[in-house]
Amino acid sequence: MMLESHRRLYNLALRERRDVYEAQGRSVSYGEQSRWFKETRKVIPSFAATNFSSAQATLRRLDRAFRAFFRRVRASAGDAPGYPRYKPGDRFRTVEFPSYGDGCKLKETGRVYIQNVGHVKVKLHRPIEGTIKTVSVKRSCGKWYVIFSCEASPGDASKATEDGPAVGIDLGLKSFLVTSSGESVEPPRYYRESQRKLRVAQRSVSRKKKGSERQRKARKQVARLHEKTANQCRDFHHKRARKLVDQHGLIAHEALNVKGIARSRLAKSAHDAGWTSFLNILGQKAEEAAVRVVAVDPRNTTQACSSCGQTPEIKKTLSDRLHACPCGYTADRDENAARNILRLGLSLWDVTQRVTANVSRARL
Ligand SMILES: [Zn+2]
Repeated sequence: MMLESHRRLYNLALRERRDVYEAQGRSVSYGEQSRWFKETRKVIPSFAATNFSSAQATLRRLDRAFRAFFRRVRASAGDAPGYPRYKPGDRFRTVEFPSYGDGCKLKETGRVYIQNVGHVKVKLHRPIEGTIKTVSVKRSCGKWYVIFSCEASPGDASKATEDGPAVGIDLGLKSFLVTSSGESVEPPRYYRESQRKLRVAQRSVSRKKKGSERQRKARKQVARLHEKTANQCRDFHHKRARKLVDQHGLIAHEALNVKGIARSRLAKSAHDAGWTSFLNILGQKAEEAAVRVVAVDPRNTTQACSSCGQTPEIKKTLSDRLHACPCGYTADRDENAARNILRLGLSLWDVTQRVTANVSRARL
């Protein structure tokens, strides 16, 4: 019944837009339709029974359909794009409640209250985390579903996405990277070892006589070591990236090449080449796995406190390995940075997750 009222509203509003355009040659706006609905529901009982803001959501949906239509008209030269269509019974499937609590609410009993429908028994597919923002009621293949869109608060950061927890990574000085959950990843020993060998070999080249056979041989040695190191490096990057992508739904890291950063970047720059290649690999793997990767501005991520959000007056220097905030929060310097990076990453990304619930034995 509820779905049917919304479908009628959609089609009626579509007809109004059509009629006004034919009679007056102008488009009707969403605002006009919202006002029109306010009047109309005084005389049509089934409209009067619908929740007002969810009816507005249906009108906005029509508005979006028209906007998309006009965009297509502008974009296409000549061939006429499809005009928004009337929805037959089986083509209108969703009713949205745009502000949670207004017309639709999940009760402590586990039932969902829907205005003018009553309490409906549902089975959640998984527990709700964060704050419910909107609710949609949907019919699909003869079954009914209630979909809760929830927004994770920063405190729920570790559970923030549909596809797994979110993580922040700080590309460290001492460690290769440190995660916001406190895991520190060391570069493998062989990696450092071969870099040391490479340096030795490079020195040996510069000590040999220019153009000599011995220098040529030493150069060859350097080239071989170079390749070996690069392979080891790539291998390590692939493994680390795979692990991060497998375990998370969102990965936030600091953006490299952000201009005007004084802090520890200088000291870090020696590693930048390696990180660029690591982040490229991470990006590729994440894309394949539909895991989100977000780069954040690293400014102040080292100094700010990830617990209280304040920046302590006494700045950390490069040698300060510990973050100790007057608020009482103490953590490893890089872990604190990683947590700040995570928070920024989450704020850049819409961390809406959807929880679906089956509706048992009800027609809505
Ligand atoms: Zn603090």
